[in-house]
Amino acid sequence: MTKSHEVVIIGGGHNGLTVAGYLAKAGVDVCVVEALPVVGGGVVSAEVAATGFKTDPCSVWHGVIQANPLILNDELGLISKFGLKYIKPESQLSVLFPDDTYIILHRSLDKTCESIAKFSYHDAEAYKKFHDWAGKFLDILSQGMFNPPASFGSMVALMDQSEEGRDLLRSLMISGVDICDDWFESPELKSALTKFCAEALFSPRAKGTGFTLFTYIPLMHKYGGAIPVGGSGALSEAMGRCILHYGGTILTNSAVDKVIVRSGEAKGVILKSGEEILAGKAVISNLNAKQISALVGKESVSERYSNGLKNLKLSSHRSICMGYALHEPPNYTAGDETKPPSTISRGVL
Ligand SMILES: Cc1cc2nc3c(=O)[nH]c(=O)nc-3n(C[C@H](O)[C@H](O)[C@H](O)COP(=O)(O)OP(=O)(O)OC[C@H]3O[C@@H](n4cnc5c(N)ncnc54)[C@H](O)[C@@H]3O)c2cc1C
Repeated sequence: MTKSHEVVIIGGGHNGLTVAGYLAKAGVDVCVVEALPVVGGGVVSAEVAATGFKTDPCSVWHGVIQANPLILNDELGLISKFGLKYIKPESQLSVLFPDDTYIILHRSLDKTCESIAKFSYHDAEAYKKFHDWAGKFLDILSQGMFNPPASFGSMVALMDQSEEGRDLLRSLMISGVDICDDWFESPELKSALTKFCAEALFSPRAKGTGFTLFTYIPLMHKYGGAIPVGGSGALSEAMGRCILHYGGTILTNSAVDKVIVRSGEAKGVILKSGEEILAGKAVISNLNAKQISALVGKESVSERYSNGLKNLKLSSHRSICMGYALHEPPNYTAGDETKPPSTISRGVL
């Protein structure tokens, strides 16, 4: 059986759903094709730990997306119309050390500096200066995250034209540990901040990870990270409602086996069931580069591209998620101030 739509999106992760939502709202006949029984990919909530307790098997904390016009300006009405509700804790991250001391990164810059001052007055001052310096670039950087990226060459040429740009360029080249060593003295603060590099599944000593501190710190104070009521999956569920409301189609349990390519253009998909779905205007992929290349087939991908893919290395770091079914929030021996909904991190010295 063959169906057809204007646009077919392979994968219903939150990125695929975002594209589908904007297209559907613009009146495009869009179809999301998802292999699993529910949409959301890494942004789902499920009864993992025990019946009746929903936990998030992958993403929990919705940080950077708070600066995205999708949420910031509620462009698709996910909050005003489709039931998404966020909790934005004042204490964003509590970093606990083995002796029950802790640093809390609050949304409030002043409260964060007070917490840091328990370890070092110098670092409390330096943190504020770092925040103000990095914050100058926040709007440019956050706009850059939600628009098509510029080519690396033109980006470097642009940054090379001013002192501020060259500072930014340096932050792209150095590690999170380098930034911490440049600015701070206390091992506790360095441990707390390099967590942002580990979040991106890199060693904080890896060159290039300095950028995470440069963006996450001002972003956290300006926009604040958040958790959706009902779990991470509440975002994907709201997106699903939005797509259906604007006339889009979502097919679950529908793994794509092959992308139909004719004269060098993607024209539709063939599902594992054998069903064909044609796309009049475009096929959009929500998969990673290796997955989508396998579906497109070697014959449609250049040798140079295939070799590039072969050389793509996975991070040596992995993250795991453990779900606990608890009747009340955990009590940490460090004290009440560190109680959830703040996220908790174990500081390593
Ligand atoms: C343990 C863990 C914790 C994390 N914690 C956080 C966090 O707290 N905060 C945060 O911001 N990020 C976190 N992340 C990262 C975040 O989950 C991902 O960046 C995000 O989910 C990626 O979304 P995506 O839409 O790009 O891809 P995905 O969510 O991977 O979506 C891809 C979709 O494509 C589908 N698919 C694959 N193959 C096919 C096929 N052949 N046919 C049809 N469909 C197919 C998949 O089933 C999936 O639904 C975490 C990740 C992990 C693993």
